[in-house]
This record gives sequence, C-alpha cells and structure tokens, in this order.
Amino acid sequence: FAAHFAQQMPATLRLRERARDTLVAPGHADRYFFPSAFPVFVRQATGGRVRDFDNNEYLDLCGGYGPHLLGYAHPAINAAISASLENGLVNGIGNPHEVELAELLVASLPSAEKALMCNSGTEAILFAIRMCRGYRRRNKVAKFEGHYHGFSDQGMVSSWFRFSGETDRPEPIAGSLGTDPGTVDNTLVLQYGDLRGLTRLRENADELACVILEPMPTSVVTLDVPFLTELRALCTELDIPLIFDEVVSGFRVAYGGVQNMVDIHPDLTCLGKVIGGGLPCGAVVGRAAFIDMAKSSQDPFYDYENRVFAGGTLSGNSLTCAAGAAVLRHLDANPQLYTQLENNTQRLAAMLRQSTSRRGIACRINARNSIFSLTFSHREARLYRERMAGSNFKATIALAYYMRKHQVYLPELHSFLISAAHTTEDLDQVASGFEKSLDEMLAD
Ligand code: PMP
Repeated sequence: FAAHFAQQMPATLRLRERARDTLVAPGHADRYFFPSAFPVFVRQATGGRVRDFDNNEYLDLCGGYGPHLLGYAHPAINAAISASLENGLVNGIGNPHEVELAELLVASLPSAEKALMCNSGTEAILFAIRMCRGYRRRNKVAKFEGHYHGFSDQGMVSSWFRFSGETDRPEPIAGSLGTDPGTVDNTLVLQYGDLRGLTRLRENADELACVILEPMPTSVVTLDVPFLTELRALCTELDIPLIFDEVVSGFRVAYGGVQNMVDIHPDLTCLGKVIGGGLPCGAVVGRAAFIDMAKSSQDPFYDYENRVFAGGTLSGNSLTCAAGAAVLRHLDANPQLYTQLENNTQRLAAMLRQSTSRRGIACRINARNSIFSLTFSHREARLYRERMAGSNFKATIALAYYMRKHQVYLPELHSFLISAAHTTEDLDQVASGFEKSLDEMLAD
C-alpha cells in the first residue's frame, strides 16, 4: 500500500511524520502507526463522511467508535453547541444543561432514578464499581471474558485480546502492563451465554461487590435474552448489584439501550459515547441507593465512612451536556431512526454476506442495530476467545486498507458502526467497495 497511499494522500503522510515526532495517540494501539502507518487525518466531517487533507472523501464506518450516531456536524447538535457557547462554557458551577441531561437519562430508562455525570465511559464504570464496593463493603467484581469496560485497571481485566484458563472456567488476567495486580485477584471471570457458569456467582456471592457486563457484547454482537433473564434473577436472589455497560449500546440500539429492547433492567447502567453528542461524556444512572453513595451526607465536612468520592473538574460541563441533551431530544422525537438503522444494518449485512459466500470466503458477519462484527473465520464464534482463536486478523486489517482505496473508512480492529446519516445509496457504495476489495485481496 505504501506506493498507493503516497500518491493518494501526501498531505496526510506529512501530518503523520509530525505526529511521529511528538505524539502517542491512544486507542487500541498507537493509532497513527498501528496496524499500519497510513492513518487518515480529517479536514472535514459531515453526515456519514469524512474528507482528508488530500481531498479524498471516505464513507465513514468508524463513527468515532460510537458517539456519532446521528452523523457528523448534525444541525441539532451544532445548534445546541453554538447556543451554549454564546453563553460561555462553564463547569464546576451550576448549569441547566446538566440537569436537563440527567432528567432525559432518568426518563429514558425504567431502571434509572438518578444520574451522575462524568467525562467518559471509563469514568462511568470506575464510579459504578466504586459505588457498589462502597454499598456492599465487598471488593470482588464478576465480569465476562472479552468485555472491555474502559481503561481503568479493573475495567481492563480479561478484556481485549486477553484470556486465560479453561473455556468453562476462565481465569482473570491483567489487561495491561502497569495495572495493579490486585485488580486481577479481585475479579471473577465468567462467559457470556454460559448458563452453567453462573453457579460460580453463587459460590462467590459473599465476596462480590457487583456483576458487570455488556448486555450485547460489542465485539461479537450477540444478544442472549434467556441468559440475561437468568443473570438478572440470580443477582436479585443473591442481592448482588448488576451493572450494564451500555457505553456503546446506550441510545444506539434503541432509545435508552439494550435493556429497553429486552425489558431486563440492571441496578446501574454506565453510559458514554452517544449521550455526549461527540464531546467527552459519561454517566452512571440507576437506583438512587447506589447513586446516592456519591452524595454528601448530613456530615457538613465529609462522611468518609459512608460515602464514595466522585470527582471531575469537567464533569457535567455546560457544553457537553447541551450537546448530549440535543441528541437525546432528537432521538426521542424521531423513533423511526431506530427502525431505519436496523433495516439498513440488516440490508448491508445481507449484501456483505452474499459477497463473501459467492466467492467461497469463510467470513462471519454478526450485525444488529447499527453494530457490525466481521471476522474471517470458518466457525461461528459465540465466545470472545473463539473469535480470537479462529480469526484471520491479518485479513481483517488488510480489508480495511483495501476498502480505503474504494473510499470507505473501516476501523481496523473494532466492530464497525453505521450512523443515521448513512443512506441506502451510501450502503450500496460500501457493499460495492467490499466486493472490489475482496476481489483484489483474492488476486494479490
Ligand atoms: N465500555 C465499552 C463497552 C466500550 O466499548 C468502551 C470504549 N470503547 C468503554 C466502556 C470506555 O469508554 P471510553 O472510551 O469513553 O472511556
């Protein structure tokens, strides 16, 4: 690709050279240099497309890894941001947008009585776990293999690319060098969809602060309703708080999230991405008994014994909350967008599946409600470790670069996402780029 990209994007490659000298950009890896050194630098983003500094336009299926459900530069969001800016950006002092966003969140989820705003999904999960540990006065966290819950030490245990132990008895493993090994000791790892494995919750009930999971895991895009029903019932029986990580799925798969689709309700929900309209944002919402753990008590100084600390200079700032409230109001007023997204998802997935099966290429595509997981593999992967073991990741990465030549931007190592701004014609363009890419990959 080096020669091709050198011709297609010289200005971009100059920006890459500047980045090489000064920056490590966080992401799955250093995003300017891995898996290859051909990043896109965006000059303009509108609707479902981004344009780079060399005037190449790409249909974007990364969507900023989740926030841009309505597409880039959406008029409702831009208007809310501009209006809020006119009045001055404030944080750390009262602003009505924070109250409005909290009200919208609480109104959208039957399980939510109160909300606490923060700046990212990672922070939301950190606070939710802290609330549960404080409430239960216990330390251990039960989580599911392959579910990423942000980059905190606890959130990363047994997440991306990391798994250990037997399939039916996974062992916790640190998610990164430099994380506290204590978080590994404090984790019980289970498998999503493994009903029998849930007996381990019963065995560990006395030590558990909470159970956390993505109700519809983003990496494999599966939704196991009987499993979620059983898990909810067991957590209620054992009195263990259940946390849904809906950082990706919240307001993306349905207004509210997966919990509203399946009518199964956690004690706490972690949100981020869509609810900030593209600005840094997170929220923990749920039962007042937990959210109130972060509230000042009667003690005028500080009730260290009974309260969990929740800080954040920029949490609930006026700009983020104005943008987030605008997104939620727009989604609430336009429920047909969710039908359109699901129809478009199934239509595109069918076209992609047809292209691979016609060529005899082993490829699995799981897709629901705007989220797509594509792996080059012979076997259906139900579990994260099956997906990791049986997939040709080199081919997945190569696909992203072939697609780039056909004006489609795919994230290289992440589920891809469509937005409400993508039209059926856009998706036809994706499908056609996919066909050409497959043919080129087979020929090379
Ligand atoms: N939970 C899930 C399921 C996620 O996918 C992510 C981020 N991709 C997070 C939490 C963390 O959110 P953030 O990157 O906003 O900290």
